[in-house]
Amino acid sequence: MADEFDVVIVGAGLAGMQMLHEVRMVGLTAKVFEAGGGAGGTWYWNRYPGARCDVESLEYSYQFSEVLQQEWEWTRRYADQAEIMRYISHVVETFDLARDIRFHTRVEAMTYEETTARWTVQTDSAGEVVAKFVIMATGCLSEPNVPYIPGVETFAGDVLHTGRWPQDPVDFTGKRVGVIGTGSSGVQAIPLIARQAAELVVFQRTPAYTLPAVDEPLDPELQAAIKADYRGFRARNNEVPTAGLSRFPTNPNSVFLFSTKERDAILEHNWNRGGPLMLRAFGDLLVDSAANEVVAEFVRNKIRQIVTDPEVAAKLTPTHVIGCKRICLSDGYYETYNRVNVRLVDIKRHPIEEITPTTARTGEDSHDLDMLVFATGYDAITGALSRIDIRGRAGLSLQEAWSDGPRTYLGLGVSGFPNLFIMTGPGSPSVLTNVLVAIHQHATWIGECLKHMTDNDIRTMEATPEAEQNWGDHVRDLAEQTLLSSCGSWYLGANIPGKTPVFMPLVGFPDYAKKCAEIASAGYPGFAFQYDPVPVNQS
Ligand code: NAP
Repeated sequence: MADEFDVVIVGAGLAGMQMLHEVRMVGLTAKVFEAGGGAGGTWYWNRYPGARCDVESLEYSYQFSEVLQQEWEWTRRYADQAEIMRYISHVVETFDLARDIRFHTRVEAMTYEETTARWTVQTDSAGEVVAKFVIMATGCLSEPNVPYIPGVETFAGDVLHTGRWPQDPVDFTGKRVGVIGTGSSGVQAIPLIARQAAELVVFQRTPAYTLPAVDEPLDPELQAAIKADYRGFRARNNEVPTAGLSRFPTNPNSVFLFSTKERDAILEHNWNRGGPLMLRAFGDLLVDSAANEVVAEFVRNKIRQIVTDPEVAAKLTPTHVIGCKRICLSDGYYETYNRVNVRLVDIKRHPIEEITPTTARTGEDSHDLDMLVFATGYDAITGALSRIDIRGRAGLSLQEAWSDGPRTYLGLGVSGFPNLFIMTGPGSPSVLTNVLVAIHQHATWIGECLKHMTDNDIRTMEATPEAEQNWGDHVRDLAEQTLLSSCGSWYLGANIPGKTPVFMPLVGFPDYAKKCAEIASAGYPGFAFQYDPVPVNQS
């Protein structure tokens, strides 16, 4: 007989960890399955040099426990991977989470049984278990995108991916290293690899807008001031569309209300302050392409000023809308291209055609390499979900249900898949927010929903097709009011060949959170319920 739990949670990243805590608070039993050897999800795997959060530490942290948020002391404005892993270990120990987590265990399939209204969850190494509820905490950036390049399997040196970095540090000393990809991971790793390697060849397809992070030791006075009213600080952040950085409100005015000199002063200030504040410089920069161009050109000029070789600067200069792909943060990224041991190769003009045991060959040139690093990102938001064979009512697979792009109600539920919840899924603000806030909002909402169902003998809960359709229209309408879907980004799945391009995250956290709360207090309209049969002797 398979073990039975009230809840199975898939993934022990930051979402799965809080979800386990919330499930326990409701008094239900839970089992968490995690493919990695420890908790932490993306932070467990992303050990590449330079890996650092691009959300400020005091915000990229849990808020479900006042004791926890008071006792933990962050040391940097932006925590690096090692500091975040120390925090994760502290949370796992403090809340005794590990006893309900099975590590090194990948969920391969799950099937909904109509007669019992239970999910059977199959794993690769722990057999199968049965649960009333399944919660997918599989992460938005957890399924690496490893593009196939002919001959890559013949390469003699190490081939690494930033999102599956080895547990032990990698030594680049004396090596000729190739890095493919210049998104958030690439721009963080490149300056550090360049300092160690004998030679670094960067293979760039699309140049990114990379802004200075301005990472620095965290000001103890700022930390103390925020802790004096952490609850108020979190509440103010929740009122911001991206659920964070309420200390730096967006300038509500149009760029065109300012003289050129005034605009430059605002942009210079935001550049020097660091972080994603550039996108808060003017109220219209993410909705008006002319306004956007002003900000984009400011950053392009910075690149031309920093990079000494004008040809290299031109290759590094992006042309797309700033902000439609996620902004990258890195200290010293553009300066790296002034080093004599660094070479930039434009693989949009001349793609890598072949990898041999010792080279990467483009149509133009051949590059001798000892190590190859893929910084090529993820099959984002839906990738980890679509790799599990999830079968709902009548054997319908989630992959089939989503063949024209993901469809959800509130990002949380899917029609045809009763009692299955998705955390930070498509149709929710997820990656457009400080994801720790998105996780908190989903974990607490799902926790309350589980309590409601348990208290009211509700057997199943399932999004209705109408609610799902209307929600999908709403997500699309909001995205179309911005410039966010105007370039081929992973928000749309455009980085994955064959993936149906649909803008997946929902724009605007505060309205979303209010809507979810309203739906819960109104008895969950848009979800259909079935009730447990009343036992015969009580009827
Ligand atoms: P990414 O932003 O998707 O960047 C991947 C890079 O690889 C891009 O330059 C992309 O070029 C290139 N690429 C993809 N497929 C390719 C192919 N077939 N051939 C050649 N080049 C290819 O991935 P990422 O850098 O791992 O970052 C993903 C997200 O994770 C970020 O946007 C961010 O949300 C998160 N992240 C955050 C941090 C942080 O907190 N600081 C750090 C790392 C990651 P194209 O642009 O042309 O597709």
